[in-house]
Amino acid sequence: MSSIFDKYSPLKSRVDMMMKIGRDALGVQFDDIINATRGRIGNREILLAGTNNYLGLTFDEDCVAAAKQAIDNHGTGTTGSRVANGSYAEHVDLEKALADHFGMPSCVVFTTGYQTNLSAISALAGDKDVIFMDADAHACIIDGTRLTGASTFRFRHNSPEDLDKRLSRHGDIQDGHALVVIEGMYSMFGDIAPVDEFVDVTHRHGGYLFIDEAHSYGIFGETGCGIAEEQGVLDQVDFISGTFSKSLASVGGFCASKHPEFEITRKVMRPYMFTASATPSNISAARAAVEKVKTGDHLRKNLKERAQQLHAGLSELGYDLCADPSPVIAARRPNEAVAALEWNWLLENGVYVNLAVPPGTPQSSSLLRISLSAAHTEQDVNKIVETFGAMKNAQGEMMNDMASKLA
Ligand code: PMP
Repeated sequence: MSSIFDKYSPLKSRVDMMMKIGRDALGVQFDDIINATRGRIGNREILLAGTNNYLGLTFDEDCVAAAKQAIDNHGTGTTGSRVANGSYAEHVDLEKALADHFGMPSCVVFTTGYQTNLSAISALAGDKDVIFMDADAHACIIDGTRLTGASTFRFRHNSPEDLDKRLSRHGDIQDGHALVVIEGMYSMFGDIAPVDEFVDVTHRHGGYLFIDEAHSYGIFGETGCGIAEEQGVLDQVDFISGTFSKSLASVGGFCASKHPEFEITRKVMRPYMFTASATPSNISAARAAVEKVKTGDHLRKNLKERAQQLHAGLSELGYDLCADPSPVIAARRPNEAVAALEWNWLLENGVYVNLAVPPGTPQSSSLLRISLSAAHTEQDVNKIVETFGAMKNAQGEMMNDMASKLA
């Protein structure tokens, strides 16, 4: 008899393959997270190199104290949305702090970064508008476009020229507007968008530019605002979204805009109106982290140096890396089975990275993806490089092992 789960048979085979090789890479359990760079599985200490904890602030004493104080003051949960239960002073204060940081008049905070893009994109693009998004856009951007009645087109990854062609081909958008959606630094390859060129092309065609700086806020730019600031065009970007779950060491998200009219969307964004607002502790931790971002030159300096060190070390070992040095460094592997085997080997040898496989990756690539933290030391990066080196030496043995496991 058929089952409602039959459609997952191909996926189940892939998970079974991973389990035979080692374990489910998408279901790892840590018994303890000790600090920003160390976790524990059983009695083994693991070097964390795949947590997007870019500034290493999850154990920062001011962020922790702010979160604890918020629980003492306001309790553990908000038990409802801001529309139903009202905003806490901390939600509003964080919005003001972020708006000030970007030098923009409006900022809305959300319960997650995922909901931020769902909310903002679906509110901005109406039936008559047209969305142009980068071919490598994150799932929550794609899902945001699915909540709209707008037609959606993808342009070639990081190609302002292709966007230009598509906008020209489209001609006048009758009674509507173009919304162009890109990211600052892309999460899988760690490559960076030419935001300055996208600003130029988008505005030449009368469109609006939306940038997701989830992986770049806190890391790039003189005051940590992201790639738009780094490239000197922050004041020209229409909308900037981001998350609290990476540099800001918490959970939640935000969208800031240079258009004060963005405020009206609070009354229509369903993933803002119909879900519980972020907890007092999450908001207060993020608020403390924003201050750390603004004064975080020393963190950004260490992160940059560690990225250069790791990129050089892995290149020297002969790994095919996806982009220039950045806090995300991904090595291309020949296929999913090899990547899974190696990912498991690295974990067994004390280093946690991300296994990234299709469909979540660009160019259907299988990747070992590392995200660095400002909390990583030079010795930590040496350990990552050494472990990757040892893995290369163990290649023959690993392949035999895989053949026997998959036989
Ligand atoms: N945008 C991008 C580019 C992301 O990579 C992610 C998550 N990794 C998000 C948004 C969603 O953020 P969150 O985890 O806070 O929901």
